[in-house]
Amino acid sequence: MSKPDYYEVLGVEKQATEDEMKKAYRRLAMKYHPDRNPGDHTAEEKFKEVNEAYEVLSDSQKRAIYDQYGHEGLNRGAGGGGGFGGAGGFADIFGDVFSDIFGGGGGRGGPRRGSDLRYMMELTLEQAVFGTSEEIRIPTWHDCEACDGHGTADGKPAGECPTCHGAGQVRVQQGFFVLQQTCPRCRGSGTAVDDPCKTCRGAGKVRSEKTLEVKVPPGVDTGDRIRLSGEGEPGETGAASGDLYIQINVKPHEIFDRDGNNLYCTVPISIVTAALGGTLAVPTLEGSVDMQIPEGTQSGRRFRLRGRGVKSVRTTSAGDLYCTVMVETPVKLNKQQKELLRQFGDTLDSAGNKHHPEASSWLGKAKRFFDDLTSS
Ligand SMILES: [Zn+2]
Ligand SMILES: [Zn+2]
Repeated sequence: MSKPDYYEVLGVEKQATEDEMKKAYRRLAMKYHPDRNPGDHTAEEKFKEVNEAYEVLSDSQKRAIYDQYGHEGLNRGAGGGGGFGGAGGFADIFGDVFSDIFGGGGGRGGPRRGSDLRYMMELTLEQAVFGTSEEIRIPTWHDCEACDGHGTADGKPAGECPTCHGAGQVRVQQGFFVLQQTCPRCRGSGTAVDDPCKTCRGAGKVRSEKTLEVKVPPGVDTGDRIRLSGEGEPGETGAASGDLYIQINVKPHEIFDRDGNNLYCTVPISIVTAALGGTLAVPTLEGSVDMQIPEGTQSGRRFRLRGRGVKSVRTTSAGDLYCTVMVETPVKLNKQQKELLRQFGDTLDSAGNKHHPEASSWLGKAKRFFDDLTSS
């Protein structure tokens, strides 16, 4: 199955800057977020695709490999046979599901560093804005107690691999060339277990879980990553462990939309408040604040509440909260209310267009438009 182009997935140019990609990623992650598309399989697939594309393109090393070799280059890296900077590719992790840690090929030339792992952390907007401390459970491996980590039924150190005689590598003749390859039998370990331990089936390690406390600083946003050094897949004996990347995904909020440090919300106001002015309780992340609505406020007018937005991890000053008012037409009026409105309407009509400057300017434009049509 061929994979779609990562740039196309994000809808960005090949020369896109990190910032442009982050923007595109945030937009798409919000659009295809499972919370916004419950039960929609296509959206879920898209969400994964977008995450994968961003994962690669936001990492300059991986992006360079992808630019040069495409998907193929990244796959090679993940196999552990060289590739990028010692690190293997990300295991394919979505949600809390981690791939089998011992999957993938053996290393070539020296013990292999553990692969990096990715953990998708879903946060509410409040958690992202104010920071949080989350406990996560991640898989880990420890030496099998039954066999003392040797993988043998009797718990004694394993014998030498008969294929490579303990070297972990074999020489293969291919035409004129002699290639050095990882021993296919022992996968480079140099040892062979004739009678494997029943508990770990010869692996010498058993799987367990560990709990990690992840401190999320205030101000993070979708697309941000927190690196926990050395918490990834364990390396082979003598090699370093990989890193664990916590990838932040902020869930859609009921009231606020976020764009960088700014927050946006829409607040309905009554026709009376809009006409006469008044005080409106506006929600902010720190509780509600009073906002003055001036007399004659039109629907769609946007008010700025300075400093009521988000303080991002990178900046010191907070963004703003933009509050758009929507004038709500009253519904389910009773007879008396309707009558009052009619009487009120009559007083407006008798005053010409004085009370409706928008309507009068629009009527003027419409008249000119029709005049132009008939004269041409
Ligand atoms: Zn061997
Ligand atoms: Zn064992």
